[in-house]
Amino acid sequence: MSVFEDSGKKRTEAADFDHMVEEAMAADAIPATREDAGQPLRMARFAPSPLLFTDYGDKVRDFKEIWELLASGCNAFFIDTEDEEDALMAAESIRRNPPSAYAPVFSSAPHGRRFEALVDGVSVRIDEALGKSEPLLRALREVNKEAVAKNSDFRLLAWFYMRQGVELKPLAAPKTDDIYGYPVAECLAAVGVDHKQWLDGLRVRGQLAQKRLVDRVRVCPKCSSPHLNFIDVCPNCRSIDISKKELIHCFTCGRVGVADLFVRDNSMTCPFCRAALRHIGSDYDHPLESFVCEDCAESFTESQVLTVCHDCGARNAPDELDVRTYFTYALTEKGQVSTRIGEIENAYALFDRLGVMSYAYFEQMLDWNIGMLRRYKNDPPFTLIALRFVNIDEIGDVVGNARTAQMIDALTVRLKNIIRTTDMVMRPSMDTLCFFLPHTDGEQSRIVTGRMEALRDDVVLKDAPKLRLSINTRTLPESPKEVCGEGSAKMLLLGMTANI
Ligand SMILES: [Zn+2]
Ligand SMILES: [Zn+2]
Ligand SMILES: [Zn+2]
Repeated sequence: MSVFEDSGKKRTEAADFDHMVEEAMAADAIPATREDAGQPLRMARFAPSPLLFTDYGDKVRDFKEIWELLASGCNAFFIDTEDEEDALMAAESIRRNPPSAYAPVFSSAPHGRRFEALVDGVSVRIDEALGKSEPLLRALREVNKEAVAKNSDFRLLAWFYMRQGVELKPLAAPKTDDIYGYPVAECLAAVGVDHKQWLDGLRVRGQLAQKRLVDRVRVCPKCSSPHLNFIDVCPNCRSIDISKKELIHCFTCGRVGVADLFVRDNSMTCPFCRAALRHIGSDYDHPLESFVCEDCAESFTESQVLTVCHDCGARNAPDELDVRTYFTYALTEKGQVSTRIGEIENAYALFDRLGVMSYAYFEQMLDWNIGMLRRYKNDPPFTLIALRFVNIDEIGDVVGNARTAQMIDALTVRLKNIIRTTDMVMRPSMDTLCFFLPHTDGEQSRIVTGRMEALRDDVVLKDAPKLRLSINTRTLPESPKEVCGEGSAKMLLLGMTANI
């Protein structure tokens, strides 16, 4: 709530959201879950042997097996083992288990960087762990429980929300396929979901923001592997068999050769013209070229740098490599609100980035243009296009919210390239867009609709049904001489969007 403390207006908004949460909870009469407001802190301690004596009463329970830990119904965890493998397995299992995914987890010992990325603190005593868990659980009370129980997006948002101001950092794991990962997101992600795409989807939907650039990694443009070997090669034949050699340039005949060839009986003689070379600067010098290719005998100053992919063998110049950037992620204000009310803004709203105008204004603008056509019969024609994305909901059911949002984002970017800045856009319903193209006749509009139809093949999601589009087009006037006979913009718009 700290974000709302600054201004009066924001405080009102915060109060409104509180109200919405209360209302939602009352309406559905959600049964109290373990983490509910009234529930006290219950910590599960994972340890090979029980505590010898304890004065924590009901607060701490001991478990030897990970499955017991997960089934305990506890809302905080303390990993108290020396065994690195067990500790990591426990931390991963807690984060993978939906009811405990966002729970406070502390450890008595450090167990490597991945482990430390998954837990909330290491090298702490159990009483410290109890103390540090309290504020996290207090924050959890503000989170919408129903959304968190149902959906992994909200579990991740809850993880952020409970840890105010936390940044999710990429962790380098050099021996893995893609060098960097986000262990918490990786564990919380639904089965089969690429956690980096998931994070990016939440960023696209405004729930998370990229905070700090941590690294830039170059990967193979063919197979995306970051495991690359940089080699020096001959710029002429690309052989790697090159060596640095001292060269001599004979001033008498002007030829260049490897220094070894010039040395004879402790004096220097040009092997080509037999001239005696006594003084550097007047008889000979060392040219800049100092590499020699053993395969093609070319001599050169600078070798060429190539990268060879360890995984697929592709050879590329360094500037041909793809660049991956890794940022830390943080919860946005919008994300905080979503976490509390249990609703993420509809993915369709991403279409609004096309700069859509209101229905009323669009209609008015259209009316005016129809009027102009009636009055000035030689005015250039205009075209209206209604474009409906028929099966986005169906695709969403298969691939989930995050990837659907990414798809809509991709469609929006492509549509932006198709339309001109002078074209106007309006969204009459969730999945439909209306475009007004001034100075566009039937033939020109067919180019535009052709490009729109190509979106079907341009934006394809793996394992998802193919995108289906429905397009209606009207150009006015239909023939150069025809007087625009349409009744009104309202009728025209209704006619175009009704049966699409
Ligand atoms: Zn060569
Ligand atoms: Zn010579
Ligand atoms: Zn490769």
